[in-house]
Amino acid sequence: NETVHRICSGQVITDLASAVKELVENSLDSGATTIEVRFKNYGLDSIEVLDNGSGISIEDQDSIGKKHYTSKIEAFRDLDTLQTFGFRGEALSSLCSVSNVTITTATSSEAPKGFQLKLDHEGTVISKSTVASQKGTMVSINDLFSTLPVRRKVFERNCRRDFSKSISLLQAYAVISTEKKFIIFHQTKGSGKVVQLSTNMNSDMKMNIMNIFGTKISTNLIRWKDGFIDGYISRPHVGSVRLSSDKQMLFINGRPIHLPKLVKTIQETFKIYSLSQAPFFAINLTLTEGTVDVNVSPDKRSVFLSEESYIIDFVRESLQRLCEGTAH
Ligand code: ADP
Ligand code: MG
Repeated sequence: NETVHRICSGQVITDLASAVKELVENSLDSGATTIEVRFKNYGLDSIEVLDNGSGISIEDQDSIGKKHYTSKIEAFRDLDTLQTFGFRGEALSSLCSVSNVTITTATSSEAPKGFQLKLDHEGTVISKSTVASQKGTMVSINDLFSTLPVRRKVFERNCRRDFSKSISLLQAYAVISTEKKFIIFHQTKGSGKVVQLSTNMNSDMKMNIMNIFGTKISTNLIRWKDGFIDGYISRPHVGSVRLSSDKQMLFINGRPIHLPKLVKTIQETFKIYSLSQAPFFAINLTLTEGTVDVNVSPDKRSVFLSEESYIIDFVRESLQRLCEGTAH
C-alpha cells in the first residue's frame, strides 16, 4: 500500500546524495556523453539532471515511474553479466513517492520534438505535453522529501552537509567517467549560478582530476598501475596538505564504492612512507565479474568481495613497492 511504499522509498532514497546518484546513474546507463546537474538552493528547491542519452521511448513513458519497472533487464540470469548501474527499477518510483518529479525526454526518432511528463506520488503520469527537446532526458526533482515531513526537516537542517556529500559523489563519477562531460551548477538565493565542477569529453582520469581538484593536487600525483589496480595517488615522501577523506576515491569496475577497510589499508601503508600524511587517491580495481557482489545495499555502493583478504594484501604490497620505488 501507499504508506508502506513511501517508507520503503525512504530507504532507497535516503538523502540528497542518493537521489543524485540514482539520477546520474540513469543518465550514464542511457549512454549519455554529457551530463549536467543543477541544484537550486542546496537541492532543497530542486535538482535537475540533464543528459544527451537515448531518451525514453514512447512505449516506456507510462511505466517508468512504476515500482520495479526497468527497461534494463530481460531475465534474472542477466544479473551476472549486467553492465548497467540500474536494474531494480526502484529509483524513479521511489523518487516519485518522496518528491515531485517532472521528466522531459526525446529519443533520436522524435527530437526536436519531445515529451514533458508530470508524475504523481504513485508514479502515474498525470500530464503529458509535447515540447521542444533535444535527444536526451531531463529529470527534475522538486521538494525532495516533502511527503516525509520528518525527513524533510532533517534535510533542511543538514542541507549544506548533504549538498557537499552530493558534490563529493559527483566528483567521483566525474573522475572515473572518461570521455564524458560533467557540468555541475548550483544556484542559491543570493548568488547566481556557481559552477562547482566541469570535466571535458576526451579526457583521461588524470585530466579529470586536474579539472575537478586543480593543478596543485594533480601535479603531485603518481600513476599507480599494478595488476588489477589502476589510478593515481599522491607522491609519497613529500609533505602534502592533509586531505579530507572524500578526496579518497575507490572504484570497482568503474563504480564508486565504499570499502572503508581498503581505504584504511592504503592510508596506513602510505603514512609509513610519508610522515603520517594522508594521500589523495583515485584508483579503480578491475575485478572479475563473479567475485564482486554490488547488491549488498540498495544504493549499490557497499560491496561484498569474495576474495577480500587477497585483494587487500595485494593492494598493500603493491603500494609498498610503489613507495619504495619512488624513495629518494
Ligand atoms: P533502473 O535504472 O533500475 O532500470 P530506474 O527507476 O532508475 O530503474 O529507472 C526506470 C527506467 O526509466 C529505466 O529502466 C529507464 O528505462 C528509464 N530512465 C530513467 N532515467 C533515464 C534517462 N536519464 N535516460 C533514459 N531512460 C531513463
Ligand atoms: Mg536507475
